Amino acid sequence: MTTLSMKNLGVAVGDKQILDGLDLEVSSGEVHAVMGPNGAGKSTLSNVIMGKAGYQITGGSLELDGQDLSALPTWARAQAGLFLAMQYPTEVPGVSVRETLELALAERTNEEIDVQSRLIEEAEKIGLSSELLDRALNVDMSGGEKKRNETAQLAVLAPQIAVLDELDSGLDIDALRACAERVESMTEQGLGVLCITHYHRLLDYLPADRVHILVDGRIVESGGPELAIELEANGYSRFTESESDAEGVSVAIGGRSQQPNTLATESDDPFADPLA
Ligand code: ADP
Ligand code: MG
Repeated sequence: MTTLSMKNLGVAVGDKQILDGLDLEVSSGEVHAVMGPNGAGKSTLSNVIMGKAGYQITGGSLELDGQDLSALPTWARAQAGLFLAMQYPTEVPGVSVRETLELALAERTNEEIDVQSRLIEEAEKIGLSSELLDRALNVDMSGGEKKRNETAQLAVLAPQIAVLDELDSGLDIDALRACAERVESMTEQGLGVLCITHYHRLLDYLPADRVHILVDGRIVESGGPELAIELEANGYSRFTESESDAEGVSVAIGGRSQQPNTLATESDDPFADPLA
């Protein structure tokens, strides 16, 4: 049993506080959905879990089975069993998926795994053309192909906890179903999932145990799957209006999107060591 735990977590980029007092716990076999308006801090949450450079923890804790993650570089978090499917998967020219996974698996296990045949097997399950497996990682792939590629990598790597940042964006309806059902079957083998999404349809195939609403950097409500259905019908206004008299989703987006990008000079490399 593995547990990813965030308590009273605060995260800033430069001098801008993005997450503030966030509590969330994901254990093996559970699916937690995080939904929220644009700019609420969902991708920030996934980036800080994986240790992307530029995101500073300003308070609270981020732990995997009681081990403080904040001091660990990204590769060590992956080795500890975390996986992130990025909202915008990074293109890595010159490196194939197979090479990436062979290296990653060699750090995790002594087992001899035939990565190429595992990849072909997984690609087939989610309708990813096996020709694409010979390309450099994510290079010259459509949005949907990248998301399927992420899902195939997830299935071959078999981490303890997976963070899926809008896995559904860019996927057509058949691919969405195939990918979500593949992840769902992994949860039956013990995978814990933190799934960021805007739409209930992903959760039709990957049912959530808990749904959390993230607004303005904190979780304002948690509930069962019915919460996702309510959101689809009514939007976020019930959760955002109390913050201001202005209307609806634009409240949460407004203040944030006008900030300058304080990371413009920082490394955007998700594999960089945050301590370096
Ligand atoms: P979401 O994924 O919920 O749409 P994000 O976590 O991407 O939201 O962004 C939350 C807020 O933090 C946005 O206003 C965004 O512009 C800002 N932000 C996120 N990452 C950075 C960064 N690296 N540099 C500057 N601002 C950032
Ligand atoms: Mg996002």
